[in-house]
Amino acid sequence: MSGRLFTGGRLVIASHNPGKVNEIAALLAPFGTDVVSVAELNLPEPEETGATFVDNARLKALAATRASGLPALADDSGLVVDALGGDPGIRSARWAGPARDFLEAMRRVEKALTGKRDRHARFICALALAWPDGHVECFEGQVEGHLIWPPRGKQGFGYDPMFIPNGRSETFGEMSPAEKHAISHRTAAFRKLVDGCFRPPP
Ligand code: IMP
Repeated sequence: MSGRLFTGGRLVIASHNPGKVNEIAALLAPFGTDVVSVAELNLPEPEETGATFVDNARLKALAATRASGLPALADDSGLVVDALGGDPGIRSARWAGPARDFLEAMRRVEKALTGKRDRHARFICALALAWPDGHVECFEGQVEGHLIWPPRGKQGFGYDPMFIPNGRSETFGEMSPAEKHAISHRTAAFRKLVDGCFRPPP
């Protein structure tokens, strides 16, 4: 499916996480994209006031494109648990508190699930590509699975050690980065973004 095409040149990555910026730069390198981060440009992070992952990705991308005058790409992601009405959802990072303690965040999820039989969950990743004229293209990827306790595995990050994707028996925390990458919500969203907005150089 084709949206507005990114026609090359500089692209601002609306993330202050250098790991994320490097990963995105590598993914977009084959399309001749020259990536710069909002941190390098000294741009502030807007408050994530949206009600959905797409809303938050969109507002971050729009803030970065307005401040820089360049096209900007933002992402927003998290864990959505059916039996918790979608929590922690867009508050996935906040559930880990100021210390970013994800063992504590996983304990909080497990506690909230006490007595509930439905342990279905999904990771969602939204991506928004915005241009200085205010046009935005949004994409969303998901991976479905269920939650286990206690957590298993030391790979990955965040809620990975308690999440088993459908059709597998290991958690994301037990998978190599390549194994997780092959099926992750972020990969699914990037496939849609590349399909919609990027073309290989001639
Ligand atoms: P953000 O998109 O950088 O705001 O991150 C949202 C939060 O969602 C992260 O801090 C993690 O807690 C959680 N999250 C997003 N993607 C993943 C993942 O692939 N594995 C584990 N946790 C994730």
